[in-house]
Amino acid sequence: MTGRDTRRTVVELDGVSKSYPAGVTALRDVTLAIGHGEMVGIVGPSGSGKSTMLHLAGTLDRPSAGTVRIDGRDVARLGDRRLSALRAHRIGFVFQQFHLAPGRSALDNVADGVLYAGLPLRERRRRARRALERVGLAERMTHLPHELSGGQRQRVAIARAIVGEPPLLLADEPTGNLDSASGTAVLELLRELNSAGTTVLVITHDRDLASSLPRQVALRDGEVVSS
Ligand code: ADP
Repeated sequence: MTGRDTRRTVVELDGVSKSYPAGVTALRDVTLAIGHGEMVGIVGPSGSGKSTMLHLAGTLDRPSAGTVRIDGRDVARLGDRRLSALRAHRIGFVFQQFHLAPGRSALDNVADGVLYAGLPLRERRRRARRALERVGLAERMTHLPHELSGGQRQRVAIARAIVGEPPLLLADEPTGNLDSASGTAVLELLRELNSAGTTVLVITHDRDLASSLPRQVALRDGEVVSS
């Protein structure tokens, strides 16, 4: 693992705007750099552009104007295949709704997180076991999602996001569907992953939770008001 070096930029948005066809401008001229090893909370009222910004940082969507760079590379210059590969290898995603496959065990949900790598199932499951141990779910590997609590489901989703050991983890309201104790535990897990070297960007509407993070980026009406 490489050491923490916040001067090395993992995500860079340079004059980024995003408009949707209906005429909504979700982001306006956002310039922001996230350094290697940072843990950053993205805050702002509903509709202020937080998810849009995270999607652009995760290359799930393309900006209407401006440049998005991941590891210094302008993503607009990458074709679809190279962009998918960059996303698969470099970025892990966690969402409020968990997005686990209902009929599959925790182990196989996590093993699916490295499908892109073309590894045999046995190896994918070996890595999945390790990721589930890392998130504290060694005892729940064979459980189906509906046999797990919300907090545990989110841990499975986090294990799936990190099973390929991406350097960047993007989390969109990961505590939004959890009670406060489970939410605090999930945030604690994100902190541990960050301490181990993963760069973490996390959207949260929980002010207390956000204020406990080393850096916050605040959005309002699609603009960065503090960073
Ligand atoms: P937040 O995450 O802060 O709640 P979003 O990034 O989801 O904000 O949304 C920012 C603005 O963009 C909102 O006004 C929202 O309605 C609009 N928006 C988001 N996604 C789309 C879309 N796919 N099509 C049209 N408008 C959208």
